[in-house]
Amino acid sequence: MCGIFALTHHREAAHMAFLGLFALQHRGQESAGLSTLHKGQITVHRDVGLVADIFSPDILSRLPGTAALGHVRYSTAGGDARANIQPLAARVNGQHVALAHNGNLVNAPELREDLERRGAIFQGTADTEIILHLLAQAPGADMGAKLKHISGLLEGAFTLVLMTQTHLYACVDALGYRPLSLAKFNHEPQSFLGDAPECWVVASETCSFELVNARFERDILPGELIEIELATGKCSTHVLPQVRSLAQSEPRRCVFEHIYFARPDSYLWGQSTFLFRETLGEKLAAQAPVDADLVIPIPDSGVPMAMGYARASKLPYAVGLIRNHYVGRTFIEPTQTIRNFRLRLKLSPLRHVIEGKRLVVVDDSIVRGTTSRRIVELLREAGAKEVHMRIGSPPVKFPCFYGIDTPKRRELLAQQMSLSEMREELQVDSLAYLSIDTLHQMAPQKQRTSEGGSGLCDSCFSGCYSDNFAQRRLREEPNALVGG
Ligand code: SF4
Repeated sequence: MCGIFALTHHREAAHMAFLGLFALQHRGQESAGLSTLHKGQITVHRDVGLVADIFSPDILSRLPGTAALGHVRYSTAGGDARANIQPLAARVNGQHVALAHNGNLVNAPELREDLERRGAIFQGTADTEIILHLLAQAPGADMGAKLKHISGLLEGAFTLVLMTQTHLYACVDALGYRPLSLAKFNHEPQSFLGDAPECWVVASETCSFELVNARFERDILPGELIEIELATGKCSTHVLPQVRSLAQSEPRRCVFEHIYFARPDSYLWGQSTFLFRETLGEKLAAQAPVDADLVIPIPDSGVPMAMGYARASKLPYAVGLIRNHYVGRTFIEPTQTIRNFRLRLKLSPLRHVIEGKRLVVVDDSIVRGTTSRRIVELLREAGAKEVHMRIGSPPVKFPCFYGIDTPKRRELLAQQMSLSEMREELQVDSLAYLSIDTLHQMAPQKQRTSEGGSGLCDSCFSGCYSDNFAQRRLREEPNALVGG
C-alpha cells in the first residue's frame, strides 16, 4: 500500500507535492520521498517517518523546480530498508529519472534473479528497483517506449509514475489493481509557468486533488500510459502491450481499496468511497438483520457501513467507540505490558452509550481476529448486553500478492475456522459477513466487463488469482493449512 502524487508546471512544485502527499498519508506512514526537476537536474529527499515531519520548510526550499514526484510508503515487498524509500532516482541511459511505484510484482523474485545473473547490482530489496534496472536495459528511443517494453515483463500490480528531464509518464498495469487519476490545476496564473497551457496532476487518490485545488479530469485506465511533455504541457495517451501470461484480461480493481484503504472522501474508479461503504452497510443489513438496540461502527472505515446498516435496518446509529488518531502504525511497544494496552490506546468505549445495550458492531473486515476479539472484550467491559458483529466484506481467507499487506494463510482467522468457531473465538452473540456475490453487484454498470463481470479483484476472499505466479506463491507458503 503506497501513495503517489506528481505534478507539472507549477512554480511551487515541491510545496504542492508536499500537500498532495499529506492528503495521501493514510496510504503509507513508514517513509516518504519527494523529487523535483530543476534545469534538467532531479533533486530527491527521502526519509523514514511522516510527511509533515520529513519535509520541513527548510527541506522544501532545497527542492527547487516546476515539476515534482512524491511517494508515501508502507512496505509490502522488500522490507523497510532506507534504500527502498521512493521515489528512486538514477541515471538511465544518460538521463536523470525518478520513479515511484504502487503495487507488488508477483514475478519479482524471478526478474531479480535474472537481472542479478546478468550483472545487475541492487541497493535495496523493493520491486521498484527491478523496474529501474529493466528500464535501463530496455530497447526504445525514449522512456515511453522503454516503459511499454518492460510492461510486458512485469506480472502483478504496477501503478508507476516516472519523471525524466523532459517528460512525466504515468501508467497502470493491464488489470488496473491500484487507482491512479489525472487532474488539472484550477486557474491561478501567478502559480504557473507563463507559457504552460496545461498544468497536470497525477495521484493515487482524488482526495489529494481537493487539497491542492486541482480539478479531476479522469482515471488512468488499466493498460494505459500517459505521457506529459514538460516543455509544452502536451498530454498524450498510449496503450501498453498486453501482459504476457494473463489467465484473464478483464480488469481486477482491488475491492479492498473501496472497503478499507482509500479515504472516504476519494472517488475510486468513478465511485464515491463513502457511498460505496454506506451501500455495503445497507446490503449487509438486508443480508444479516438482527434484533438489537443500537448500531455502532468500528472507526474509521466502519463508520459509513454502520450508517448504511442503521438506515436500512431502521435501528438507531450511535458512536460507541472513540478513536485516538495520534496512535500511528509506528507506535513503539517496548514491553508486553504496554503492548497489552495497544487497543485501549487506539479505541476508547463510551460507557453511557453502550451499557445495557444489544449492539450491532459494524467493521470493514476481520484479518487475524485479535483486534476484533479485544474490541468485543472492551465493549463487554463497558456493559454491552449483546454484541452482534457484522462485517462489510466477505471472509479474508487468502493472502494478497498485489500490494496489500495481509498475513500468511495460517494467520488468517477465516482460513482456520468455520463461522461458528469464529463466533466462539470472538465471543460474539452472532457474526455475519457480506457475501462475495453482493460485493460484485456493487460495481456500477459502466465498470462492468464485456461478460458482465464486476472488474473487481476478490482473490483474498476467493483464492482465485489472475496469474500463475500468484498461484505458485500460494503453494510455496510455509505451513499453509489447505489448498487454494
Ligand atoms: S487480493 Fe484482495 S487486497 Fe489484494 S488486490 Fe485483490 S482484492 Fe485487493
